[in-house]
Amino acid sequence: MTDKIAHVVVDVPSVNTDRFYDYLIPESLQGAIHVGMRVTVPFGNRTIMGYVLSTAKESKVKGLKPIQSCLDVQPVLTEELISLGKWLAQETMSFFISSFQAMLPQALKASYKKSLHRVDTPSNPTLNALFDGRDNIDFDELETLIPLKIINEEIKRETVTWEYHVTTKESNKTVTMVKVVGELEAFDRYLAHLSKQAKKQYQLTEYFSTMDQDQPLKTVLERNKTTRQTIKKFVEAGLITLYQQQVDRNPYAGDMTKTRPLPLQSQQSEALDKIVDSMKKKRPDTYLLHGVTGSGKTEVYLQAIDWAIKQGREAIVLVPEISLTPMMVERFKRRFGDEVAVLHSALSIGERFDEWRKIQKKTVKVAVGARSAIFAPFENLGIMIIDEEHESTYKQEDHPRYHVRDVAIKRAEYHQCPVVLGTATPTLETFARAKKGVYQLIDMPERINHTAMPHVTIEDMREELHQGNRTMFSRRLKLAIEKRLQNNEQVVLFLNRRGYSTFVMCRDCGHVVECPSCDISLTYHQREHRLKCHYCNYSEPMPNVCPHCQSDTIRFFGTGTEKVEEALNETFPEARVIRMDVDTTRKKGAHERLLKQFGQKQADILLGTQMIAKGLDFPDVTLVGVLTADGLLNLPDFRAAEKTFQLLTQVSGRAGRHELTGEVIVQTYTPEHYSVLFAKAYDYHGFFKQEMALRKAYQYPPYYFLTLITVTHEQRLRAEEVTRVIQKLLVKHLSEEAIILGPSPSPIERIKGRYRFQCMVKYKNEPDLHHVLKKILDHYQKDYQKEKLMIHIDLNPQQL
Ligand code: ADP
Ligand code: ZN
Ligand code: ZN
Repeated sequence: MTDKIAHVVVDVPSVNTDRFYDYLIPESLQGAIHVGMRVTVPFGNRTIMGYVLSTAKESKVKGLKPIQSCLDVQPVLTEELISLGKWLAQETMSFFISSFQAMLPQALKASYKKSLHRVDTPSNPTLNALFDGRDNIDFDELETLIPLKIINEEIKRETVTWEYHVTTKESNKTVTMVKVVGELEAFDRYLAHLSKQAKKQYQLTEYFSTMDQDQPLKTVLERNKTTRQTIKKFVEAGLITLYQQQVDRNPYAGDMTKTRPLPLQSQQSEALDKIVDSMKKKRPDTYLLHGVTGSGKTEVYLQAIDWAIKQGREAIVLVPEISLTPMMVERFKRRFGDEVAVLHSALSIGERFDEWRKIQKKTVKVAVGARSAIFAPFENLGIMIIDEEHESTYKQEDHPRYHVRDVAIKRAEYHQCPVVLGTATPTLETFARAKKGVYQLIDMPERINHTAMPHVTIEDMREELHQGNRTMFSRRLKLAIEKRLQNNEQVVLFLNRRGYSTFVMCRDCGHVVECPSCDISLTYHQREHRLKCHYCNYSEPMPNVCPHCQSDTIRFFGTGTEKVEEALNETFPEARVIRMDVDTTRKKGAHERLLKQFGQKQADILLGTQMIAKGLDFPDVTLVGVLTADGLLNLPDFRAAEKTFQLLTQVSGRAGRHELTGEVIVQTYTPEHYSVLFAKAYDYHGFFKQEMALRKAYQYPPYYFLTLITVTHEQRLRAEEVTRVIQKLLVKHLSEEAIILGPSPSPIERIKGRYRFQCMVKYKNEPDLHHVLKKILDHYQKDYQKEKLMIHIDLNPQQL
């Protein structure tokens, strides 16, 4: 007897629907519906989407409704991913549906609005019926169906129109591509003759003049919301040409000469041997590959993957953020060519879907991507690699609040394959586990060819001020830049902006106002003109003079990249500067373009924020300047010192990676801070030891686990009140060892009109915590519609 019942999780993320529903599989869909497929089902008086998680012969529930239609020909979730999703929901205390949604590309989700073909829902929408009246649909070629609109509002028996993205092998064969042929001057001349009304043409001119590779016409039309007629004007003006390309959408196509594996140096081959041994023996070991920048970790990854592929297995490589690491991605493309799918958030929805589908259809062996690529639906994984494992982007800050490290380790159990965490600056949690033997530690302390680490100098900016230098550049940095300009070498300048304008510092003595009991800098709250601690709710008035030296230069901080760029232009008028920050990189491909320009030496100085700290490898960069190391240090975050150490080490790694030796100059108001000093000495172990002692003393991870509970409500009082009730409940139900802090306002107290209060639990072992929290959640969120009260629970928060 075939299964007639499907267990479906529906696309309604709420406490009340956080379970599986039984539906009847109608006769017409038997044989078509399989576990892991998307279906549409009647739900109340709506039609919504859901996932079939399992099937059964019978159900205890009477009067079941039938599934309406099936949206897939091939399951989008494997059995492994389904059980992973259930585990994830439990682990992160999120809804089942949210964890499945997190695993799939946008295109497969209900909110997807674009499609290629339009089909009206027939009255009996089985797969066959859906395509009644349509010729030449070969079911083997049919890839997927994407509903345009799943009705999420109350709709009463109206005719619902659906659109389906029907991708067949046929329809993907040729693509019209746009190639830019005009010179920049030609675009300028074109602009000069445009009438003021021609807004689209202005927009397109800018678009084309910054387009660094050919793009499908469809993409150009979509992105600019324009028509073929407008595009034609540019063709006629000789600025662009159109041509047909015989491939499917492949954003990374291009002629790339393949690289060959390099003969490994001894520390590399030792590392590779260990990893390969785990693969051979099918052991789910977790390795911490602790290697300084430039020690050749990437080459180890490449060869380990090569080994996996040769065994017919697959690999996942995670990078912190794809657009920030174009050079890294290119190395994988150049080694493995068409065997790589790149899951890039800056791709269009369709392009990303195509990349994902290559994995689903097993036409690739390697997936490279940011966080969510950990869910790549491979079925025979040989290795998972998390590069720069310390990066905070590996933690998802929204439902489900997972860390990729945990997901990778969970998947490794299933696939019996190793996980490799690579970094020069492991998180304290990871390094502590490696020391305990939970992870296997592999050390790569030497740079390739024993190149020296660049020399780091610390510049005390207080001293500069006392010497009458009020500019952003210390005298040493200014001289060093001048020297590079003369020698035709390149400079990377790093400005740390995050966390600015919230902490208060004395410019005279460098004193930062901190909470007396938390070892965390206080945050300035403009509304009340007070300083507050976000851990324990301590507060004090904003001081007028420095409590330390009585100077009146105490204030909160702020310098933007734009200001620095101005100052650079004034101080070094002959220097060509590329600025990289959120403003200059908003457009798709802008990162890659700016970096390419810098790589081709079209500029002398690359100025940027956090985003330039990662994965850059330019042979002519011999000087790296950090304008102020203090920004991160004063974030109201117990990880501030760790992040500063990581960042300084990363940034330093950008200099002198090749023949030329590098120099690093770090400007700071707190030159005596241990994270600055240990970074200068490239002393990870020293830093680890000191920071661990502090974490122990102040009861932070890795000695304690943290759970952050945030309550949001339109009324401040209500948010605070509920947080207080939760705090009391926790005190009552948890053990005496648990430390429960709060309620205190969240660092950003109000977002979109909602007030936020939080409560923090520090604990070593609280087996009941999940259970208690779940009860609290259920209690409050059952009435969400009535009260609009929200509770977020973040187990192991990264940002506080
Ligand atoms: P990491 O990932 O640890 O920062 P990379 O893998 O980027 O280090 O290696 C640093 C540089 O050394 C790169 O330019 C790389 O091409 C080169 N390299 C790596 N391994 C070898 C090797 N075995 N022989 C020669 N050069 C190598
Ligand atoms: Zn405090
Ligand atoms: Zn002072």
